[in-house]
Formats: sequence, structure tokens, C-alpha cells
Amino acid sequence: MSGDVTAGVRRQIEIYDTTLRDGSQLEGISLTVDDKLRVAEQLDWLGVHYIEGGWPGANPKDDEFFRRARTELPLDTSTLVAFGSTRRKLGKVDSDETLKHLVEAGTGTVCIVGKSWDYHVLEALETTLDEGEAMVGDSIEFLRGNGLEVMFDAEHFFDGYKRNPEFALRVLEAAATKGATTLVLCDTNGGALPHEVEAAVADVVSHFKDDVKVGVHLHDDAGCGVANALAGVRGGATQVQGTINGYGERTGNCNLTTIIPNLALKMGCRTIPDDRLERLTPVSHHIAELVNMPLNPQQPYVGSSAFAHKAGLHVSAIARRPDAYEHVKPDAVGNGTRFVVSELAGKSTLQLKAKELGIEMDGPALNEVVDTLKRLEHEGYHFEAADGSLELLMRRAAGWEHDFFRVESFRVITDEIGSRSFTTEATIKVHVGGDRIVTTAEGNGPVNALDKALRAAIGSRYPALDHVHLTDYKVRVLDTAKGTAAVTRVLIDSTDGERSWSTIGVSDNIIEASWQALSDSIVYGLLHNTATA
Ligand SMILES: [Zn+2]
Repeated sequence: MSGDVTAGVRRQIEIYDTTLRDGSQLEGISLTVDDKLRVAEQLDWLGVHYIEGGWPGANPKDDEFFRRARTELPLDTSTLVAFGSTRRKLGKVDSDETLKHLVEAGTGTVCIVGKSWDYHVLEALETTLDEGEAMVGDSIEFLRGNGLEVMFDAEHFFDGYKRNPEFALRVLEAAATKGATTLVLCDTNGGALPHEVEAAVADVVSHFKDDVKVGVHLHDDAGCGVANALAGVRGGATQVQGTINGYGERTGNCNLTTIIPNLALKMGCRTIPDDRLERLTPVSHHIAELVNMPLNPQQPYVGSSAFAHKAGLHVSAIARRPDAYEHVKPDAVGNGTRFVVSELAGKSTLQLKAKELGIEMDGPALNEVVDTLKRLEHEGYHFEAADGSLELLMRRAAGWEHDFFRVESFRVITDEIGSRSFTTEATIKVHVGGDRIVTTAEGNGPVNALDKALRAAIGSRYPALDHVHLTDYKVRVLDTAKGTAAVTRVLIDSTDGERSWSTIGVSDNIIEASWQALSDSIVYGLLHNTATA
């Protein structure tokens, strides 16, 4: 079987990304045309073979995307694809709006979706099986006639193949005969299981032999999106369609950030160029940033917890023999081993943490950090969740002090104007590079106002700050028995588009707790930005 990967020959699997079309169906994602262009640049940098840009004609945004892509999106590695559907029922191809838009999109390659499940043809389209087949064949013939490479997404293929394999294959044959280069078998409802996918793909591959390429397009409704993609490849598919971070409608599409390393590192396949595998983690984080969704820390390979060890006793063993505790080398996918430090951590864990961060620390300094950690965690800090603040604390213990800015004082005022309308204003006095700067800013709350005031004061000195912003702000009351007098813990997540970090503040004053977390966040961002002036 062609799924055998032990033969020593590396099979090339095409990676087809549909983040910009199917992925953007996810609730809560709303991409501007600029966002879409930025996402496409990331995908090209990663080196996927195909980028499905959208559905021209379906909305003005996708029209504008394809128009601007011609001049504003120089692609080095990827081929841009326009997506659409077959012609209308009983319609003519040369007057069909959808097909016209596909031709006008100006991409050399298009992908059209058509029905391969008899039930859908009869019940959803309410037409005959002959007409259902003709809609696919005519449309592909027309697009080929316009000089385009055409891929065919066989919608609901796996469900259709189960119920009426004869019709499902008939539709694929029509597509292949009329010149489709790739038959993409879709699990549109996402309910298939790996053994079913592998068997159905193998049937199709042996039916068509080498006449046409076979791909798979999978959804994660049964929690098997990634497994189904691997099963499809084992069955002989040579193209996988999915999305970055598994974005997509309902439970999402199959996740390319997991599929790519599984194929490349574990199944001996070639996917994106080998030397770009290490771009997976930064691209995953950058795209999460562009779509404005916090990345799941537990996401395989690329999540911030994917190689995080909280091991206590085992920590020195992990440091000595990481391959005994990690399923792949984290740097193969651009991630890194992380030792999670909490009050339970002993000196050896901190020593490793210091090594990981490249901080030189002697015995007394390490002891000081151990003591400080224990004291602060007792007060309510939780450094496990605040890697950014932990790093700053360790650097300070090693004798470092930042000189980006020095705060003389700040003040936050919240006024109620009329009934239920509030304004918040922050004033900050800062020394930066020998100057004393006083700025005032308004915000929709105290943290926002402080953040703006600090940026207004130091932003022109540090243009890199433009890229740093807060992605999450969490407040937790630690001693609920005391009511409003209780201690609050503030956690802030930040990103510069490449890396993400968390910082912490604890105080019985929520503004002070927020300020600690906020200033740590800014200092961390400046410390790690080499572009800082
Ligand atoms: Zn889909």
C-alpha cells in the first residue's frame, strides 16, 4: 500500500491551507482584507503549497482580497487559489455568476465544491443524479477551457460513499474526465473515523491509479480531524486540506500545525520545506494574533505548554536526557523546552530555568530567588502562570536592573458623569533617557488608561512598543472572605506578534496589582525586542 512509509522513499504531501476561507467560518473570527493579506504572507513564509484565499463573488471583502493580492501579495512558495462552487442547477456555464467570478479572480488555480452524496443531490439540490453529475463535469470543463488548474472538492464524500458508492465515484469520474487535477474527498460533516477514511481513500486511489491526485478535506466534529488526515495519507492521499490552529466552523477543520509535524517527523513524508518546519510555532502564534484568538497553550507541538515540564524530582533527569521525556525535539518545530517554576521548585529547577533563559546565577543568587519565590507565592503570586515576571525576577536577583524608564509617580481618576457613564484618566510622570515626561491619557478603564499614558510617555523613544500589546487581563480575588478588602491577583498576557508572555501583580489595591503586571509586561517586551532604539 502506498501508505507504507517504511520503504525509505519520502512521499510528497501537498499542504493546502484553507484558513482564509473555511477557517474564517469560526465564530468570533472577523478578518479585514489587510488581515487576510498578512495571514497569507505568513502561510507563504511557512511554505504551504496552496493558499485558498476566499470565495470571490460571495462577499465584497473576498473580491477586494483577490484584487489586492495581485499587486500586494508577492508569493515565493505558495500558489493562491480561488474557491467557488459548481454552476447552478440547470444553468449555463457561460452565464454563471460563480464561475465568472472564479475566472475573474485572476488566480491560475481554482477549487470548486460539488455534491457527491446522492441524498444531497436529490434532497438539497432537488434535482436528478444525472444533473448533479453534469453540474460538476460542465463546470470543470468550463474552467479548464479558461486555462485554469481545477481542483474538485467532493462535498460529503465519505457520507455519500458509505450510502451510494456508485454515485460518489461517478461524480469523481466526471471531475477527473473533464480535467480536474486533484479530487479532494471531503468529510464535510466531520463525523468520519480514521479507519473509514483510510479505507475509502484507498478505494478511490486504487480506482483512479495515477490518473489524478487524491486529497482529503477534514473537519474535527468527532475529534478525529488530525487522525483522519493521517489516515487519508496512509490510504494514499497526496494532498491534505486544513487550517492553521484548526480554525473552522463548529469544532474546526483539521489542524495543520499538528498534521505537518506528524507527517514530516513521524511518517517520513515531505510536506513544507524541511528547513521551514521550525517556523511552525512562530507562524501559529502570529496567525492567532492576526485573527485575535488566544492560542490554546495545550495545542500539540506549538502551544506554550507543549514542552513545559513541571516535574520537581524529575527535572534534572529531563535536563540530562530530554529525549526520554519529550516525543520530539521542541526546536524541530520552533518551540522550546520550558521548566515551569513554582514555590515547590527547588534550587535545581531554578538552575535549569536560569540556563534556559541564559542567565548567569551563582549559588547565593539562586538561594535568594528560592526564598523570594516562596515569600511571593505565599503573598499570592503564582509564577507558574507568569513566565515573564519570573524571568524579570531572576534577572534582578542576578544583578540586572532595566533602564528603559523610571516612574516617578502615577495617578488614576475615575469620574462618573451623569448616570452610569464613567471616564477614566491616568497621569504618569516618567524619566526616560534623562528627560522627565508627564503625560495624561483617557481609557475605558484604569488599566487601559495607564497603559496608554505610559505608552504616550515612552512610545516615541521605543518604537518597538507599537508591536507589543495586551491580549488578556485577568483578575482574581484571593481572599474572598474579606470582600472588597481582599488581595487581588492580576495576570496580563501580552504579545509582540512573535512571542507571548504573561506577567503578574498582587496587591490589596487592584490598581497597584495591575500596574505591577503592566509595567513588567512592557519591560519584558522591551528587553526582548532587538529592534528597540
Ligand atoms: Zn470544509
